[in-house]
Amino acid sequence: MIVKLNIVDMTDDGRGIGKTSDGLTVFLDSCLPGDTVKAKIIRRKKNYAEAELLEILSHSNDRIDNNCITPAECGGCDFMEYSYPAQLRLKEKKVKDLLSRISNLDIEIDDIKYSNMKYNYRNKSILHVKNKDIGYFSKNSHNPIDMVNCLINSRISVEIKKEISKLLNRYGIDNIDNILIRNSKNDEEIMVVFITKDKKLKNIDKIVDQLVSKFPNIKSIILNINKDRRRLLGKEDIVIYGRNYINDYIKDLKFKISPETFFQINPEVTEIMYDTVLKYADIKDNDIVYDIYSGIGTISLFLAQKAKKVYGIEVVKKSVDNAKENAKLNNIENVEFLMGKAEEILPKFTNEKADIIVIDPPRKGCERSVLDAIVKMAPRTVVYVSCNPATLARDLKIMTENNYSVERVQPLDMFSHTVHVENVVKLTRNNN
Ligand code: SAH
Repeated sequence: MIVKLNIVDMTDDGRGIGKTSDGLTVFLDSCLPGDTVKAKIIRRKKNYAEAELLEILSHSNDRIDNNCITPAECGGCDFMEYSYPAQLRLKEKKVKDLLSRISNLDIEIDDIKYSNMKYNYRNKSILHVKNKDIGYFSKNSHNPIDMVNCLINSRISVEIKKEISKLLNRYGIDNIDNILIRNSKNDEEIMVVFITKDKKLKNIDKIVDQLVSKFPNIKSIILNINKDRRRLLGKEDIVIYGRNYINDYIKDLKFKISPETFFQINPEVTEIMYDTVLKYADIKDNDIVYDIYSGIGTISLFLAQKAKKVYGIEVVKKSVDNAKENAKLNNIENVEFLMGKAEEILPKFTNEKADIIVIDPPRKGCERSVLDAIVKMAPRTVVYVSCNPATLARDLKIMTENNYSVERVQPLDMFSHTVHVENVVKLTRNNN
């Protein structure tokens, strides 16, 4: 069946959401909110349908020229053809809608915050390698589209990718599966990780020499041995040049970052976000604070500068190791990092004093047992940092049914030109 659709919204994975004139919801790729399109229904479900785009009948007023020269199939970003103000409005609306629909909260949210660095902000790129192509997978596939340029990854990482493409061709290397490139703010320190099943790569010493002589700020080159296709990184790292970490700064604090540890990917928005966390936490000298899902201790160390004591909880061992070293590096002593799953560790602390709890879970949000433990610990404020508004909305519903109120919601444009949106939420305990 052929239908005419008005595209009214986007899904979390960047698909257009269209409506037919009789109100049927239809999902389809390659269109933007505000477009009117002709599409062919390919799957009809009870409450919605999926369709294939046939033709854009009229373009959204917010469409702009796409300056990216990598082929359009690249799945790296969703919004290169959507004006920046329209992206921001869409993200604000998405957060507000989810909080209303899932959390039952009809509240004002703050205007989304963003930085001046709207392009080339990503300090980490994970590129897939197949034959001679190195880049992001095209949408819904495992075929990388060779990255000619990239408007969201750091410029230096794009230059390094180009050089790596040349060198792998020149030396006939075909057993690298993925490449991770990380750079610190201002590109002062760079890490390159070649992810491969084999411990031996022919001519790797020549590649290392040439890469480092062209990019002297590369401080770390690592072979990561990974035979498990379900995960990106394997357990074994072999340092083939320099160190097994790079240093970066967030404001005045210095952090060691390893290949497998999490680090926020947009340096300028991270600073705005951490300021928001600190403002919402409003820590007093005597406060005992928990930072759950603490990564390499970034938020913990900022909290520790104000609190009496901070406990960080994190499941990845290497991150906990980095966090402990980072505390030392910054001469911060009132912080303790505990390794393990939040859902296993936190319930053991339910009888301990907790004034403020910060949570920053992965996309799937918090386990119910983590939220239950927080409610029992009864901190006066919970600051929830989230990269997924759908799971945030689900968890806020639970918190608001358990003696907490949402005071502030601050969306942040951490992932410009993609559909993703970060949020920091302030929750306070009722009858304080
Ligand atoms: N707050 C940190 C890290 C946030 S990312 C920062 O701002 O940099 C989320 C972190 O949660 C990751 O480091 C991940 O390893 C960790 N994590 C994931 N599942 C977890 C769990 N069940 N328990 C504890 N930590 C977990």
